Amino acid sequence: MPELPEVETVRQGLLQGILNKTVSEVLIRREGLRYPFPKDLVTVAGCTVTGIRRRAKYLLIDLDDGRVLLSHLGMSGRYTLFSSTDAEAVPQQLLATVNGGVPVSAFGDSTGYGGKHDHLEFIFTDGTRAVYTDPRRFGIVDLFPSEEEAIQPLLSSLGPEPFDPWSAVDLARALQRRKTAIKLALLDQKTVVGVGNIYACEALHRSGISPTRKANGFVRANGKPTVALERLTDHIKEVLSEAIASGGSTLNDFAAVDGTMGYFAHAFQVYGREGLPCTKEGCGGVVRRLVQSNRSTFHCPSCQR
Ligand SMILES: [Zn+2]
Repeated sequence: MPELPEVETVRQGLLQGILNKTVSEVLIRREGLRYPFPKDLVTVAGCTVTGIRRRAKYLLIDLDDGRVLLSHLGMSGRYTLFSSTDAEAVPQQLLATVNGGVPVSAFGDSTGYGGKHDHLEFIFTDGTRAVYTDPRRFGIVDLFPSEEEAIQPLLSSLGPEPFDPWSAVDLARALQRRKTAIKLALLDQKTVVGVGNIYACEALHRSGISPTRKANGFVRANGKPTVALERLTDHIKEVLSEAIASGGSTLNDFAAVDGTMGYFAHAFQVYGREGLPCTKEGCGGVVRRLVQSNRSTFHCPSCQR
């Protein structure tokens, strides 16, 4: 599943590939993904992309007519960009059609699955194409006026972003009354957005904090963060920044927006390393896996207390 760093990588890729470009056509090959597509999705044709932002794991594509195209990659969504030269190299005119006239994807050799999971395609006036592929179909696409962003149901209840100005003081305020395990509190999108399973494990390991400790134990009686919580906050920012810098990381079949299927391998320190020696110098412990709220937690009982 793409986590925040992957989504940020996609944002940066789209920024390079489609910013200031004008959509000439939208090809829609099914009714929807997790939810039905907005009825007016085809009206994105004619709009120019004026910005690409990210809120939590939502991509927010600003259009010059004052609307926002929201895209969430779900479990397996990805965008692949094709230049006009790439697109011209693929014979488009001989294709069968689906959905009352929409040609089937011609890009299956690049996007995988013979193109049958290329559900959406944005064609730009310069011939660039952005193909959205999503085999598991948990992705979300929505379209709304920018003035409604604050009340958009998917966005309105999200917690703070994990980068500045977010601090240990903010985290302490969110954890003050939480008796749940610290790791589960970090996964709660109302505490902070975008700290998924992998990066919660990594940040706790780096901080030497057991994932099962109670969240409110990291808040002093006066509501201020403990030293451990300050360290954890720094490490959350650090692990996410490092992953963004290295182009995100992958576990599944998730590809970056660079026109290829290639993706970045990222060496995790604790995630997925059950039974292997702890990577911390001098620790000598062994990484264990436990299940919290149906999710695997990887941790080192020797150095995480
Ligand atoms: Zn260790």
